[in-house]
Amino acid sequence: MKVILLGPPGVGKGTAAKRMVQEYGIPQISTGDLLREAVKNQTELGLQAKQYMDAGKLVPDDLVIGLLKERVAKEDCRKGFILDGYPRTIPQAQSLGTSGIQIDVVVNLHADENVIVERLSGRRDCPKCGAIYHIKNKPPQHEGVCDACQGSLITREDQKEEVIQNRLQVYRKQTEPLIQYYNQKGLQKTINAVQSIDKVFSDIRIAIGRK
Ligand code: AMP
Repeated sequence: MKVILLGPPGVGKGTAAKRMVQEYGIPQISTGDLLREAVKNQTELGLQAKQYMDAGKLVPDDLVIGLLKERVAKEDCRKGFILDGYPRTIPQAQSLGTSGIQIDVVVNLHADENVIVERLSGRRDCPKCGAIYHIKNKPPQHEGVCDACQGSLITREDQKEEVIQNRLQVYRKQTEPLIQYYNQKGLQKTINAVQSIDKVFSDIRIAIGRK
């Protein structure tokens, strides 16, 4: 099963993908995570990508396409995978086709922009263990401190208010056209992302034909 999770930043693609990993035993591939890892390790790719990420812009297609191809070629992707945050442009989508990667279904998670802004700007991350909190919806027990590992929580550079607006603009211009692109291919299913995680997940199950 090869699934794409489409939708604006902050809509809950990562959370949905993690649930799918548990249920279906196939890996989640997040190009955002792969890029952050490259930045952390200061690889050549990471050094090139950082400036775009910090500004809320997309990393150039050639860099991301190469990174994705390398990842899906790995053994754990043989039975399928969940793409979270890829593709984000038409050329990235086309690169899947030219690489012989056949997508079964594209789940488009939808939420209004005001909901997205609230979700993103309240998010706090633990850089040590990767846990994610939200100042309103999922606050840690002690403000600014990770429940799991006691690390200091941060607001990611790309989750600051002005950068969020930038990312949404980029989404509207470069990524939203993919909804139509996959609709024409008959692969696109839209789901309301402003529901409980259980309801979102049961809708995903139906969308991918695994009732
Ligand atoms: P994410 O965690 O998916 O929101 O990604 C964080 C940042 O990584 C984005 O704002 C982009 O700068 C970059 N990024 C992630 N995936 C892609 C992609 N498929 N194409 C271009 N840039 C990406």
